[in-house]
Amino acid sequence: MSASIEAGLAPYAMHAGQSRGRRYPEPAAQARTEFQRDRDRIVHSTAFRRLEYKTQVFVNHEGDLFRTRLTHSLEVAQIARAIARNLRVNEDLVEAISLAHDLGHTPFGHAGQDALHEAMKPHGGFEHNLQSLRVVDELEERYGAFNGLNLTFETREGILKHCSLEHARTLGELGLRFIERRQPSLEAQIANLADEIAYNNHDVDDGLRSGLITLKQIEAIPLFARHAGEVRREFHDIADRRMIHETTRRMINALIVDLIGETRRRIAAVAPRSIDDVRAAPALVAFSDTMRADADALKRFLSEQLYRHYQVMRMTEKSRRIVRDLFAAFRDEPRLLPTDHRQRVETEGPRAIADYVAGMTDRYAIREHRRLFTVGEG
Ligand code: MG
Repeated sequence: MSASIEAGLAPYAMHAGQSRGRRYPEPAAQARTEFQRDRDRIVHSTAFRRLEYKTQVFVNHEGDLFRTRLTHSLEVAQIARAIARNLRVNEDLVEAISLAHDLGHTPFGHAGQDALHEAMKPHGGFEHNLQSLRVVDELEERYGAFNGLNLTFETREGILKHCSLEHARTLGELGLRFIERRQPSLEAQIANLADEIAYNNHDVDDGLRSGLITLKQIEAIPLFARHAGEVRREFHDIADRRMIHETTRRMINALIVDLIGETRRRIAAVAPRSIDDVRAAPALVAFSDTMRADADALKRFLSEQLYRHYQVMRMTEKSRRIVRDLFAAFRDEPRLLPTDHRQRVETEGPRAIADYVAGMTDRYAIREHRRLFTVGEG
């Protein structure tokens, strides 16, 4: 079945038939490849639905138009699939990895993750990539026979984008590539860079919409200026909102086209004949040097002007405090936790508190904080 669905893939693609399989063996899927099955399990998971109410830069209740982690994940999947199809590698696998890549994110994006990492330092720390893996390996409770979603090795490998060496040593086969400095599949490499293309561009869009950055500021950034100039030449008197969209869609397209071109060049130079050759080669999915420099300039701009904008910083600080307070309250008094979580704390310790807090959506964390710390609420 899967062989015919995957006909036409390049020899260096990850074929479902070559998968290293699932942690708990299951009968083969009947009308899908194993990677389509992974994708479907991810879409049906609780953690995936929660992405709707989690954010990256802006907090979920700040406006209806900003990206959430759910729409971000859909954008990543769309970009990654376009790249994969062009390179004749496995679209189903890149889709599964893309949709799952942020499942382990805490409420309030990086501020939440930093606070949780700080709180968990004496207990092994907190890494969001590792948490995404933990969600699909352990925390989802949906199947009779096992914890987690029992995904294939290749989807799990793609989800674990980064990992400290210390943690890699505890992960068996999955951690080996960090120790041996080997690459994951092309599909995992694609999902990783599609993530970057998606967030840089939607942060430009959301940043401009929020008024925290201005067109005048960003028109000093070459990548934006080039495409904005083109749009203005083509459409005189175009309204700002349309201009911004026309520009970001062209930037996304330019990044994708560049990535495909550079990756093709690298593949041609290395000539991998199988997934094993891909794993042994240096990173094959990449932007050209010029585009890399342009994309880095845009990233730097966003980090200086948007992520460190005082209004974003205020929210970041508040978010950090909420996560810190919640963790401390549950650590000091586990009886404040719902029964099943309290029982897990008794057997598993602080890690179970981190799991509980990390699983919260932005609005749930805010509500829970109010319930615990404001007299008259409950
Ligand atoms: Mg992401």
